[in-house]
Amino acid sequence: METLVVDHPLVAHKLTALRDVRTDSPTFRRLADELVTLLAYEATRDVRVTEVTVETPVSPAAGVRLAKPYPLVVPILRAGLGMLDGMTRLLPTAEVGFLGMIRNESTLLAETYATRLPDDLSGRQCYVVDPMLATGGTLAAAVQFLFDRGAVDVTAICLLAAPEGLAYMDKVFANSGKPIRVVTAALDERLNEHGYIVPGLGDAGDRLYGVV
Ligand code: URA
Repeated sequence: METLVVDHPLVAHKLTALRDVRTDSPTFRRLADELVTLLAYEATRDVRVTEVTVETPVSPAAGVRLAKPYPLVVPILRAGLGMLDGMTRLLPTAEVGFLGMIRNESTLLAETYATRLPDDLSGRQCYVVDPMLATGGTLAAAVQFLFDRGAVDVTAICLLAAPEGLAYMDKVFANSGKPIRVVTAALDERLNEHGYIVPGLGDAGDRLYGVV
C-alpha cells in the first residue's frame, strides 16, 4: 500500500482551522470541501486518460480525456458525504456509489448498513472518501467490498490518518496484489482509548452535521 501525506502550506493552513474546536459547522464544511479538492488533485495523479486530438482556432492539438469506464467516487456515509462535492468538482464525470458503514463503538468493528453501488466494478478506478482513517476497520471493509466487485485499484482520500489505521490496512492487504493508495492531509500521533485520533479533530460526522 502506498501512503501520501500531502505536504503543502495551504493544506496545513486549512487543516489547522479544521482541527480548531472553535470552528463552527458551516465553516468546518467549507474547509473540508476545500481541503478535499486539494487532496483530490494529488489523489488523481494516476487517473486513466485516453489520448484525443482537438481543434484549436489555430491547429489540431494533442490532449487527453478521462478514460471510460469513468472513475467511481465512494463516500462512506455519513461523514464521507462532507467530502463528496469537493471530489466531484474536480471529477465531474465520475459516477458516485454510496456505502453506509458505522463503527460499533464497543467492538470498534465496521458494520455495513447501506450499499448503493454498481454490481460490476470491473475495470473501475475507485476513490473512497472518508475523513478519518482511525483503526482502519471501516476503510479496510470498504476497500474489500470494492475489490470483491472487481475494482482494479482503490485510492482512499482521508483528511487525517492514524499510524494504527495505516498499519492495519497494510496488514489486511499485504497479499492482495491490487494497488491501494491512501492520500491524507496529515499523519497524526496515535489513537486514544476510545478509538479517536490524537490530536485529530474530534468526531468528523458530528462536526460536519451536528450530533444525532
Ligand atoms: N472517527 C472520527 O470521526 N474521529 C476520530 O478521531 C476517529 C474516528
